[in-house]
Amino acid sequence: MRPVTQVTVLGGGQLGRMLGLAGIPLGLSFRFLDPTPGAPAGAVGPVVTGALDDLAAAAEAAAGAAVVTYEWEGVPAATARHLGARAPVWPPPRALEVAQDRLAEKEACRALGIGTAPYRAVDTRADLDAAVREIGLPAVCKTRRGGYDGKGQHVLRTRADVDAAWARLGGVPLILEGFVPFERELSIVAVRGRDGEVRCWPVVENEHADGILRVTRAPAPGHDDALQRRAEACIVPLLEELGYVGVGCVELFDAGGTLLANEIAPRVHNSGHWTIEGAQTSQFENHLRAVLGWPLGATDARGASAMVNCIGTMPERDAVLAVPGAHLHDYGKQPRPGRKLGHVTVTAPDERRRDEVLDMLRQIVRD
Ligand code: AMP
Repeated sequence: MRPVTQVTVLGGGQLGRMLGLAGIPLGLSFRFLDPTPGAPAGAVGPVVTGALDDLAAAAEAAAGAAVVTYEWEGVPAATARHLGARAPVWPPPRALEVAQDRLAEKEACRALGIGTAPYRAVDTRADLDAAVREIGLPAVCKTRRGGYDGKGQHVLRTRADVDAAWARLGGVPLILEGFVPFERELSIVAVRGRDGEVRCWPVVENEHADGILRVTRAPAPGHDDALQRRAEACIVPLLEELGYVGVGCVELFDAGGTLLANEIAPRVHNSGHWTIEGAQTSQFENHLRAVLGWPLGATDARGASAMVNCIGTMPERDAVLAVPGAHLHDYGKQPRPGRKLGHVTVTAPDERRRDEVLDMLRQIVRD
């Protein structure tokens, strides 16, 4: 029998499911590790149910793997390192350590000359007062670890907010960041192969509400070579410095044309979902090609795309499918307020048509 190449993915959410959907046509098989029974990736391969720090469960999921990868940046680096004795693990566990700590993330950027908001580490109330004096207000206080989608953060506008932020977040390592008066949020998704080749998808523009991504437009409005070069300069040095293999993303603030890095995601990213239909090669396929040491695919856009997240409830299926150029992705998750349940991508020949269709779609996909 022809041997099947198995990929083990730590985490079995929608990102794992979309990795499987991209990899099955390439002849791959998948096994996942996820703490929740009935995880979305169960549609594309067996899921070992276990905590991500359960080394025995992780080893069971990794049995027979040609490569181990992950779809969640919260995977403990110790689990990734432990599995490294059995199979190659990509991206490297150090990428997890850097991305899991907002201070390490900012310091990695700074060391490479990548701009960020001004920041100070905060461990005590006295540190917070000193950081507010140095950085000024408004500012954003965030937990160094464990925050995502706007959770674990508090905006400080007046001195009174300092007490409230400390009462809410104090007691764990924090970071205070200057509030960036950005015009828009962008992101850049890139892939780096085992041989060091890097390819970047076009820069995209992201709209958030309540800290959660709602809409991505690809390419970003006003996209040109200069913007692309500036965005690539915010990710390529990081991937090289980390010895990174796979797909990664840097979320950016565009403040008057200056790009500042906000967050690194060491995995496929929600702002790259449009690539499934909107690019020559999707982020999911290229992630698999990279971690397996296979040739990378072209990252050029096919026309213009937009992606709308379905949050809390799924839109009416037939209404979405009636929109020209719309592609529905239902992750098969139980509805819950604030939960990402699916997304819809529209592809169009140009940005004008893309924005027209996006307007239609926004009427259908509502929270
Ligand atoms: P994060 O969890 O760091 O991705 O932050 C969630 C959202 O909060 C971002 O997408 C921004 O809209 C906003 N935000 C985070 N940090 C800052 C900052 N330093 N200045 C202004 N807005 C911020």
